[in-house]
Amino acid sequence: MKPAETLRDHLGTIYRVFGKDPDLVRTSAMQHGKNIYFAHITDTPNDGEYNVHIPTGTSAEVEAIAYAHVVTLGCIDWRLSERIFELTKPDIYFTNAGGPIQPDLDRLQALTNLYAIIHKINPRASLIAVAHDEICKGADHFSGGKVREIRYDMNDPDTYRSTTDQSLDARKREHEFLLQHVQKFYNQLRDNGVAPGKIVMEIAEIHREEFYRLHKLQQQDSQTEPLQFARSHK
Ligand SMILES: [Zn+2]
Repeated sequence: MKPAETLRDHLGTIYRVFGKDPDLVRTSAMQHGKNIYFAHITDTPNDGEYNVHIPTGTSAEVEAIAYAHVVTLGCIDWRLSERIFELTKPDIYFTNAGGPIQPDLDRLQALTNLYAIIHKINPRASLIAVAHDEICKGADHFSGGKVREIRYDMNDPDTYRSTTDQSLDARKREHEFLLQHVQKFYNQLRDNGVAPGKIVMEIAEIHREEFYRLHKLQQQDSQTEPLQFARSHK
C-alpha cells in the first residue's frame, strides 16, 4: 500500500475511533448554552464553541496533510479549542475529547499511528499536541473520573480560582497527571519513528491563559531527564 493510501485509511480509522466524542459533551454544551461546531481539519474553529475537527478519510485531507507545515492536535473543549488554533496556527487541526491525553490505550495508539504516518509522508511538518488543565472532560471520562477526583473540590464552589494550599496542591497534581500522559504520547511517537525535533507537546493553562511548552522533550532523552515547563507564546 502506498503511504498516501495508508494515510487515507488511517484517517478513516481516526473517524471510527473518535467520531462519537462529541456525544461526551452534549449535556455540558446544553448546560453552558454552547454550540458544537463540526468542521473540516483545514477549517478555522469558532471562538467560544466546542470545535470538532475530525477527519473522514478523503483525498483532499490527504493532500492538505502532505503540504502542511504545522499540524496540531487539541481538545474540543469550548474554553480553549479556538485558542489552541490561534496560538499554534496550524494548517491541519485535529480535535477530539482529551487531545493528547488519552488514558485509553487504543485511542492513544490511533493518535500515535496518525502522527507517525503523517511524519513519514511529510517529515518537515511540526507535530504539535496540546493538553489542557481545569478538568478535561475527555481525559476525565477515559481515566474513569481520575481527573475530577484529583482536581475538583466539592467544598469549594470556586475550585479553579481558589488559592488555598489544598487547591494549589490539587492543581499541581492535575499537572503531574497531564505531564505523565503527554510524556507517554511523546515516547510512543519517538518509538514509532517520529523525529523528536518535530514533536512539540504543550499544556494550556486555562485560568492563566498561558501555554507551557515542554521544550526539553525536543532536546533530551525524556526517560532520564525529568520534564520541565518553559514559558512560551508570550
Ligand atoms: Zn478537554
